[in-house]
Amino acid sequence: MPDQEKSTVVVTGGSRGIGRAICIALAGPKTRIFFNYFSPVDPEGEAAAAAETIKAVAAAGGEAVGMNVDVASAEEIQRFFEEVLKVSGRIDVLINNAGITKDALLVRMKEPDWDLVLDINLKAAFRCTQMAARTMMKQRSGRIVNMASIVGVIGNAGQANYVASKAGLIGLTKTAAKELAPRGITVNAIAPGFIETDMTASLPESVREAMLSQVPLGRPGKPEDVAAAVVFLVSEAAAYITGQVLHVSGGMYI
Ligand code: NAP
Repeated sequence: MPDQEKSTVVVTGGSRGIGRAICIALAGPKTRIFFNYFSPVDPEGEAAAAAETIKAVAAAGGEAVGMNVDVASAEEIQRFFEEVLKVSGRIDVLINNAGITKDALLVRMKEPDWDLVLDINLKAAFRCTQMAARTMMKQRSGRIVNMASIVGVIGNAGQANYVASKAGLIGLTKTAAKELAPRGITVNAIAPGFIETDMTASLPESVREAMLSQVPLGRPGKPEDVAAAVVFLVSEAAAYITGQVLHVSGGMYI
């Protein structure tokens, strides 16, 4: 029998960076967190990263289950949600956070890199939203937060695939918000700016400096800055907010 006592949170890409900070920020005695991760390149390293998230959630008094699930695969997403429902029987919060970059200038961009980024950053969010929404609609409650990006609003040279995926995610957010509002489900997006994670660590120093010069608050963001916005959007205090894009960028876009 599923244990429905705890509120159930699902986070995609929870092994590192922003996703891990979200798992920790939402952790508590009344919450069970399911997150996924995937790395065919370094499966052992990623399992260790996932174990680190589970440990940090436990230290915050919570419970987390990490599963190796490729969100680019419809079958694996289905398996993930079946497991969530088998254990918990409900889904209260979905955070579509998993994302990758495969940067190149438009004229040089390879089609497989376009497809992979769109599959992981956008199609997976559509699939996960569909899976979670079926349960949330029956419950007549739920919160969905999509991790977009500032570049999905303003564009960015060298990232046509990534920007298209994030702009698409904002469109998905607005449409899902309209469709699901009558069932008491809110859907919002967060648009982070320049956040210190593995995703931005590999940027050349000149690019980092150029980006930082565009941040009025004068520092890069921390994963915790983004997680704090998620905590707000899934809280009771945000019950009347849906279909919005909350920028967490130190003022990069005003
Ligand atoms: P990150 O440190 O690179 O972490 C990405 C996470 O997504 C990892 O947990 C990774 O799992 C997971 N992931 C990647 N591909 C996956 C797949 N196919 N299936 C399941 N999980 C997968 O990135 P981050 O900076 O925290 O970014 C998190 C989100 O914020 C992304 O959507 C990103 O686009 C967005 N964002 C980030 C920034 C920024 O400045 N960092 C700015 C704007 C938006 P593994 O550990 O197994 O690889």
